[in-house]
Amino acid sequence: MSDHPSKGLILIIDDNSVNLSILAQMLVVAGFEYRVAADGESALESVQYEPPDLILLDVQMLPGIDGFEVCQHLKTNPATQDIPIIFMTALADPKSKVKGLSLGAVDYITKPFQKEEVIARVKIHLKIRFLVQELAQKQTELEHANHQLQRLATMDGLTQVANRHAFDQYLISEWKRSIRERRWISLVLCDVDYFKRYNDTYGHQMGDRCLQQVAQALVQAARRPADLVARYGGEEFALILPNTNPSGAKQVAELIQEEMYQLKIPHAQSDVSQYVTLSQGISSVVPTESEAVADLIRIADEALYEAKKQGRNKFILAPIGSGSTKV
Ligand code: GH3
Ligand code: MG
Ligand code: MG
Repeated sequence: MSDHPSKGLILIIDDNSVNLSILAQMLVVAGFEYRVAADGESALESVQYEPPDLILLDVQMLPGIDGFEVCQHLKTNPATQDIPIIFMTALADPKSKVKGLSLGAVDYITKPFQKEEVIARVKIHLKIRFLVQELAQKQTELEHANHQLQRLATMDGLTQVANRHAFDQYLISEWKRSIRERRWISLVLCDVDYFKRYNDTYGHQMGDRCLQQVAQALVQAARRPADLVARYGGEEFALILPNTNPSGAKQVAELIQEEMYQLKIPHAQSDVSQYVTLSQGISSVVPTESEAVADLIRIADEALYEAKKQGRNKFILAPIGSGSTKV
């Protein structure tokens, strides 16, 4: 274990000072560090203060708590339960060995000590302990990497909102949920007005920056935990609003306009405002099995087209089944 300064730190718990010094001597010669405790109480304290890699624990100790009790304490505390414990028992005491193992000890050694045996058992259990730790560390790293990958796979790199793939998946699952629960679902499609002119005037980099700000404005406007903001493509964004009826969707659309107005991103070449604006198309429905999710998108898209046609910087609400309503 190259990243350990010594071969490991061993805590020896024994009320017999002769045993303590024999064991300490053996461990030092074999290259280990050690600490000693002469009773259970001070051992438990020492473990909290400086957790050892392994514990050699005497069964019978006087006065105070015995080795079994020390073991129970350590095994019930999440901070110490993984420290391997080797019991030290008298040769003629098979019951203690069984009891110790059943309490969670990994092994036992018998007194009088055989130097080679003590060191061999300590080494093997330390090796297992370090391997388990290494495995846990790798597992954490893997989970972290997985999480990152998951994020990258579902997030739009430029704007940090959900990407098209995540949009498609979420829309389908929320659509199905709405059918099951007979609830409204609304979809808002937004498109930046005169964005080609924006790029032409301020440059592509400023265009990118503008899209990032628009995405953040949309995130501000979509306030419920179940709402999803996604980059639908290019300078188009989509908001999935589960459990939201047309009047709720209208409120979100108004909020979006308000947030955009607050941004005040200059757009000298826009015909509709001195700032960057959005056009929005909204569709809302309480879906049934006979409807297709594609209709929700198509109707929002048609409403968006209508908003553009009617002069931009506005939203058109189109509840499915009741025709378009200009707001
Ligand atoms: P309208 O008001 O009708 O929506 O006009 P528009 O100019 O916004 O629409 P058009 O579809 O003609 O142009 C969209 C522009 O958006 C063109 C394209 O280069 C730009 N665009 C798409 N994706 C990005 C991007 O990631 N970054 C930048 N900077 N521009 C983008
Ligand atoms: Mg467009
Ligand atoms: Mg546009």
